Amino acid sequence: MIRWLSAAIDGQDRGRLEEAFRWLYTFVRPQSKAIIGLMLLSVCSSALVLLQPWLTKLLIDEGLLAKDYGMLVTMAITMIFVGIFSTGLSGVSRYLHTRLSGRILFALREHLYEHLQTLSPQFYGGRRIGDILSRLDGDVSQIQRFAVDSMFSALSSVLGLAGAFALLITLSWKLSLLVLVLIPLEVLWLRWMRRKVERQARIIRERSADLSSFLVETLPAMKFIQAVSQEKRESGKLHNLSNHYLTDLLKLQVTEFFTQAVPGTLTSLTRATAFLIGGYWVIEGQWQLGSLIAFSTYLGMATGPVQSLLGLYVAIQRMSVSLDRVMDLRRAEPDITAPDTPAILPDDMQGELQFDRVCFRYQDRDAAILDHASVIMPAGGTIALTGPSGVGKSTVIDLLMRYYDPQQGRILIDGINLKQLAPMELRKRVALVSQDITMFRGTLMENIRYASPVATDAEVLAASDEARLSDLIASLPLGLETPLGERGSQLSGGQKQRVAIARAILQKPIILILDEATSAVDEATETEVIANVNRIFSGKTRILISHRASTLSGVDLRIELKDGQLVVENSVSEVELNGIN
Ligand code: ADP
Repeated sequence: MIRWLSAAIDGQDRGRLEEAFRWLYTFVRPQSKAIIGLMLLSVCSSALVLLQPWLTKLLIDEGLLAKDYGMLVTMAITMIFVGIFSTGLSGVSRYLHTRLSGRILFALREHLYEHLQTLSPQFYGGRRIGDILSRLDGDVSQIQRFAVDSMFSALSSVLGLAGAFALLITLSWKLSLLVLVLIPLEVLWLRWMRRKVERQARIIRERSADLSSFLVETLPAMKFIQAVSQEKRESGKLHNLSNHYLTDLLKLQVTEFFTQAVPGTLTSLTRATAFLIGGYWVIEGQWQLGSLIAFSTYLGMATGPVQSLLGLYVAIQRMSVSLDRVMDLRRAEPDITAPDTPAILPDDMQGELQFDRVCFRYQDRDAAILDHASVIMPAGGTIALTGPSGVGKSTVIDLLMRYYDPQQGRILIDGINLKQLAPMELRKRVALVSQDITMFRGTLMENIRYASPVATDAEVLAASDEARLSDLIASLPLGLETPLGERGSQLSGGQKQRVAIARAILQKPIILILDEATSAVDEATETEVIANVNRIFSGKTRILISHRASTLSGVDLRIELKDGQLVVENSVSEVELNGIN
């Protein structure tokens, strides 16, 4: 089946497609019971559909024309029951169908989301969020529509085609020859059109991704756009994007119209021919009227499935485009993986960090951020990491948090190489407070508790107290239960900072990192925050990154990142002592 599907698709790498279909199949397989159930229902409803014209034929030929009242009543009653039964059956199968396709859709999306959670900032840096969103949303739905809807429509098409064809032959084998002319013509036409449809479908998916990217990028930046009065420019961009989208959509519509219209016209021609020949036979008394009517209905039923089976080709093309876009996300490898047997950090950790001849550079960048850098950051000390903007301080922190691994050398925490640790194990022990504090929609309480969901209400209260959040909580209408807007827009920079510190307190880290965390607040507040941090986290290793001299006064060790080296400057206390001497 998988081989057949990938063979049906031109212009793409077969191996890649087979891999993609195999992946897709892993989501379909767990639903096999539901699929078999729906297939049985499908068989029943196809049989019922085929039964209707036959009943009409009997009604006309054996009832009306034969003037048999008993037959007329029997047929009418049978039709009523068949009608009610079909309606019930279609209701049940629609319900089961939605459940099945929903399960596959959500399983696919959840799996992809989990995979996205393993990818590094490098991945997100190189992609537009709107594009990822469009793959997760539109493309995944397209695949699910194919995996469920098209497969069932193919099945009922095959059944309908076989049944209708058998009944056509039963009614008149001579007239059935018309179908044999019609079908090859339709097949040839649809094969010719399908590559066009595939190319245009890809363009449409990309246009839709452009639109989502635009909205995802500009909506959060609205305040800035207003501040620099560029609203017109952005509306203009949206207008252009929409215009492009619409133009391509209409192109696809026209192509799809011709793809469908030609077979439709051929069918009408065939039907007219059948009426001409069959009608002549009826007038000549060689054939019955009911049979002619049933024949024309079955003719429609035979060509409909041919179209939808060939339409399946078009659906496969569209779906393969989406599948490839989704697989592109799936194929992105995480930079960091947990080792097979990860080391466990002991409860009584000290928090000493050691860089041992560490080399690191970003992919596609010439300059190394670290070039055989070695340094020891003592346990329990306050360490300042300095250096001009863009030198790589945040990158050093990313290495410490294991968002990346060094290309050479080792980073050790209490003598254990970070590479031996599962990222989650390490990140539980390291709390990071950065300038950019992430807030989620939810209450203040939920936000504070985000990194430690098991913390009790009392612990959250105590942490908020320690982080000097009490005044804020008292000023809010519902206190800790106050809902925060999207991205915490109701809080000031300093307040968000305190939330971040409360989060860090709950996390009970062994290492605390403040990455430019206080640059958004004034110096007095900063001094207070730092004093607070030193009080709360005394005995833990604290790493501070800041440009302000005041932040860095009183640290135990000052390390400058310079030319790829972590250079230990004199500890501040020594400098001060030297000054005094
Ligand atoms: P700092 O924190 O000292 O201001 P960063 O660590 O943010 O510096 O950045 C160091 C250098 O690495 C910069 O030149 C920056 O452009 C580059 N850089 C940062 N992140 C990435 C990334 N994901 N991919 C490629 N280059 C990056």
